[in-house]
Amino acid sequence: MSSFIYSKLPQVGTTIFTVMSQLAATHNAVNLGQGFPDFPMSAELIACVTKAMQDGANQYTHMNGLPLLREQLCQKMEHLYGTPLHANDHITITPGGTYAIYTAITALLQPGDEVIVFEPCYDSYLPNIIINGGIPVTIALNANDYSIPWDEVNDKITTKTKLIIINSPHNPTGAVLQASDLQQLEAIVAQKGIFVLSDEVYEHLIFDGIAHQSVCRYPNLLQHSMAVFSFGKTYHCTGWKLGYCISTNEQWMQEFRKVHQFNVFSCNTPMQAGLAAYLQHPDAYLTLGTQMQAHRDYFQQLMQSTPLQALPSYGSYFQCYSYAHLSDMPDKEAAVYLTEQYGVATIPVSAFYANGTDNKVLRFCFAKQFATLERAVARLNDLQF
Ligand code: PMP
Ligand code: GLN
Repeated sequence: MSSFIYSKLPQVGTTIFTVMSQLAATHNAVNLGQGFPDFPMSAELIACVTKAMQDGANQYTHMNGLPLLREQLCQKMEHLYGTPLHANDHITITPGGTYAIYTAITALLQPGDEVIVFEPCYDSYLPNIIINGGIPVTIALNANDYSIPWDEVNDKITTKTKLIIINSPHNPTGAVLQASDLQQLEAIVAQKGIFVLSDEVYEHLIFDGIAHQSVCRYPNLLQHSMAVFSFGKTYHCTGWKLGYCISTNEQWMQEFRKVHQFNVFSCNTPMQAGLAAYLQHPDAYLTLGTQMQAHRDYFQQLMQSTPLQALPSYGSYFQCYSYAHLSDMPDKEAAVYLTEQYGVATIPVSAFYANGTDNKVLRFCFAKQFATLERAVARLNDLQF
């Protein structure tokens, strides 16, 4: 009998976020790589969770999520996006957005199903498809503005296409989808019976007065969609690993819960109770875009003194910069070079492409205190390759 383990993910190594955070720690670099804020989260939310623990909310809660939190979230979503939702059928609380994406894909895909993915894309999507026997069909976002080439989407749809994954605001580019994009998607889905996984973890991190185009605004589209959210992003607590997903397709949600119940069963109870109490303060999420826009703007202004070239960012934690005019160095090498030689860690954008497409672009996370951004940019002022 062989004791050899056949990898289900033979092409996959350690995620770039861990690689770059470790390198940043080794070289004592300012870490603008992995996306997490370095400013404190709300003391009031911490107090809400502490109170929940002191009040005894310390045992398993419902496998679909604390009922009060689900009700509060359905009200919030209905208020923001206008589609009525039912806490019992349409929402499940998950240990983070990453888990919700994996579970949604696992519940939906049969081996051989094709999934349309737009590149660059968040690094978990492709392994999640492959481990479930699905076939990723990648489409490059338009080079000039990272918008979706809808003609190509129509060309690449086959009888095997099961799912399209979208992400707005977009990681790593900071691009955002417009109403016309969601309308095109709605038409495709209605015609072809395809499903949509909508990664909306940066829903509130959107700038310049742009309205977030959630699939929850489009009742017909939501019937074919699962939308994914993350408390970590909304409340500056990425380490809490708590999120949720929403779908009015009750069959997909039932299948999701079948997988979920034997994977994590239920999520952290006191945090859910604390969040349910804290959701009474809508300002906490309604002001987030304006707050984070100030970080984007300050970072952009500081970076003008470096030779790097800014690409636009309309949302998320991220801003991409090109060094194509400065060097031919591959971007993974460039990210290591900046970390080791200049003490600033970034993420090479080629890590977001299946075939490693390298446009000499680095992703910077600006969800940092102004002092951190100043420290990082001061180190890059005399950047030379
Ligand atoms: N999707 C995208 C695009 C992300 O950037 C992240 C952040 N890690 C996630 C999903 C997952 O969020 P979470 O930390 O809640 O798992
Ligand atoms: N979403 C974060 C990023 O894109 C990191 C999440 C992770 O480390 N897995 O940087």
